[in-house]
Amino acid sequence: MVFPQGAKLENPRTVLVTGGNRGIGFAIAEEFVASGYKVAVTARSGSGPQGSLTVRADVTDGESLDAALAQVESELGPIEVLVANAGITKDTLLMRMTDEEFESVVNTNLSGVFRVLRRVTKGMIKAKFGRVILIGSVVGLLGSAGQVNYAATKSALVGMARSVTRELGGRNITANVVAPGFIDTDMTAELTEELQASYRAKIPAGRFAAPSEVAKVVRWLASDEAAYISGAVIPVDGGLGMGH
Ligand code: NDP
Repeated sequence: MVFPQGAKLENPRTVLVTGGNRGIGFAIAEEFVASGYKVAVTARSGSGPQGSLTVRADVTDGESLDAALAQVESELGPIEVLVANAGITKDTLLMRMTDEEFESVVNTNLSGVFRVLRRVTKGMIKAKFGRVILIGSVVGLLGSAGQVNYAATKSALVGMARSVTRELGGRNITANVVAPGFIDTDMTAELTEELQASYRAKIPAGRFAAPSEVAKVVRWLASDEAAYISGAVIPVDGGLGMGH
């Protein structure tokens, strides 16, 4: 089955996007809504796009996640597509990085993904269908000065997706990492103009991307057209990470 944008699906699948109230997560949720899926987003504040169900959860808090996911399942049915998107940065040079700056990024970007993943794969195994899409980053494989904590979590997602592929690949469950480069969101707006210009100069495409350009790749990975892609790292980075 192909899911063209705007089509009304007969048996729409249920998608969960973590951190769907802004940035890339919001754009991903919008894209799935426009394609006819049943979409839920987790949010600590605010809400997802029109047409989606917003549930309150913090990915560092297992109890809030359990309650939120139970609400999604009771209102929309079992979660068949997981987009683990919620993430943070706490950038500073290694020598200055505190334990808290390291551990809080790990707790959100890596342990947070684990908590949601463990919870949703139970239903995917039962349904004999699942699409797991982890939002990594170009810096996971390229490395980045000042982002030892963040880059470590994003490269760890590659090992996670590949291990899920080995454990659950025979059950019609795929797991992939989408690795964005520089995308215009609040996360990159924090960078100084000077830094943004220096990054732009290194990107073969010569520009940052819009969140929707990541969202379209994620939607395609969830479709039946991508059923034989698993354990892959799909770059959406304008060529920045080539060779990694
Ligand atoms: P934003 O900072 O714009 O949004 C981050 C989202 O994650 C928000 O919805 C935020 O919720 C949510 N979030 C953060 N911490 C938690 C938490 N503990 N529990 C639940 N939700 C949480 O980031 P982007 O949209 O730019 O980034 C989205 C993903 O894409 C991240 O994983 C990021 O690492 C990755 N990425 C981004 C790139 C970019 O250039 N922008 C490049 C490569 C990867 P709240 O609003 O409540 O804070």
